[in-house]
Amino acid sequence: MRRTTLSTACLATAVIALGACRSFNSNRAIDLRPGAGQKDAAAYLAHPTTVGQLVFHADFILPSENRLIDEIVAERQIIYEKLRLKPSDRQIHVHLFADETDYKRHVSRRFPGFPERRAIFVETDRELAVYATWGEAVAEDLRHEVAHGYLHASVPNLPLWLDEGLAEYFEVSRGRDGVNRLHVNYLRGQLAVGGWRPNLPRLEQLIEAGELTQLDYAESWLWVHFLLHSEAGRETLLTGYLASLRPGEPAGSLADWVKASVENPHEAVVTYLRGLPK
Ligand SMILES: [Zn+2]
Repeated sequence: MRRTTLSTACLATAVIALGACRSFNSNRAIDLRPGAGQKDAAAYLAHPTTVGQLVFHADFILPSENRLIDEIVAERQIIYEKLRLKPSDRQIHVHLFADETDYKRHVSRRFPGFPERRAIFVETDRELAVYATWGEAVAEDLRHEVAHGYLHASVPNLPLWLDEGLAEYFEVSRGRDGVNRLHVNYLRGQLAVGGWRPNLPRLEQLIEAGELTQLDYAESWLWVHFLLHSEAGRETLLTGYLASLRPGEPAGSLADWVKASVENPHEAVVTYLRGLPK
């Protein structure tokens, strides 16, 4: 597994929020590059192309019919329904590059000094935007970064750890109930060697994207999954917390909400982790 170096030291002043997005390697090898599996060349669309809340800007001809595009467009309803969010129509610009070198050149020019990442989400005072390469990892990357877009379009003042935990949850391909096997195995391994114990109040203290380690991403995902799947009704802790967030007001502590409702939450989340499918 590889993880790119993260740093927030060089955020452009116009940037309000930047996804602390990680780039874990996955074992998936799905060919979703332009034209892959496409039989009808005439079905290609010119760009930019608006589909739902997403505006695609690609430096190649984007297939008009592509299951990944369909998936990230449909992700909007899944996220808003699952989290009971007020739907937003604020556009999310998705910038796609056929070639990684062109992507890096564009991002470094647009956000000078910003650390290199496989894909990024950027919120400025003018727009929500995702930048990614249409490569081997594009499916996971787009589900993750576009999830940030939908969340930021609807939820003000979202804490960093929760922003990433939710994006890690929604990046999992459909049919897996949000179970991120990479995180499950990593957390179990760290638990076994004494390298990790859950600590939600500690996660809540993280405010710089560069502070998040792979363990932090994994634990953030675990808390989200625990709240959404462990017990009927427990998801209202998460949805109620999200509904409580207000622009310009410090976010409260979800850990306090969890502690008031779940007995021994840190033990409970470990037990839950042990019961998840590998
Ligand atoms: Zn992210």
